[in-house]
Amino acid sequence: CGIFAYLNYLTPKSRQEVLDLLVTGLKRLEYRGYDSTGVAIDSPDNKSIVMVKRTGKVKVLEDAIQEHFSGGDYSEPVLTHIGIAHTRWATHGVPCERNSHPHRSDEENGFVVVHNGIITNYNDVKTFLAKRGYEFESDTDTEVFAKLVHHLWKTHPTYSFRELVEQAILQVEGAFAIAVKSKHFPGECVASRRSSPLLVGIKTKTRLATDHIPILYGKDADSGKPQDIRPHGPSRELPVLPRSESTSEFMPLEEKEVE
Ligand code: GLU
Repeated sequence: CGIFAYLNYLTPKSRQEVLDLLVTGLKRLEYRGYDSTGVAIDSPDNKSIVMVKRTGKVKVLEDAIQEHFSGGDYSEPVLTHIGIAHTRWATHGVPCERNSHPHRSDEENGFVVVHNGIITNYNDVKTFLAKRGYEFESDTDTEVFAKLVHHLWKTHPTYSFRELVEQAILQVEGAFAIAVKSKHFPGECVASRRSSPLLVGIKTKTRLATDHIPILYGKDADSGKPQDIRPHGPSRELPVLPRSESTSEFMPLEEKEVE
């Protein structure tokens, strides 16, 4: 199982090319073992996120992608584009299309997540979110993360994408690597890891084109230090949202903005 994200920012590429790169990335991860696969990219009008998922081999996904994304709309080059992809080895929920990643926060695909590993306190988070009206469409531990980020986005409108994911990471337990894409933050991808490997590769034509690079943050959950590949440095420090230590009642987030 594994996660793969591709961020295009220097030379325009079509969505079809980005999808090819995602499939190549997944093929490189095949050796780790998996039971299902999936990808997410932006729709041609950039207004929504499109996902394709399949059980079985990457080849099955590749064929489904060809069928789903053929046509002129997907061959038009765009400068900034981010795609995320996943090979799943099921730990929570049987291998099936419904449980395949990416998982989404809501019907509008506001936030979509690929996740490798286990969120051990997912049941508590799920109960917390269900009480707030969230309905779950998979049996995975992963889905709670997408919905937790969405809940934070609604309750903390001033938070950046990175801050939202950071705060969500602080609420979950377990070992994992995660990548998040959002229709509300186009051109940004946030990735994080805790006790699982996550590699970041950067290819530039000349030196780091900082004005054009999409925002790419990594939070090293082992050391707790944010890793920002841009020389601008990290964004503002925020207080950690309150969280109960009790696992029986997960009450992680006050429903008010934290100063
Ligand atoms: N725990 C997640 C699931 O069951 C991710 C498994 C994986 O690492 O692929 O969907």
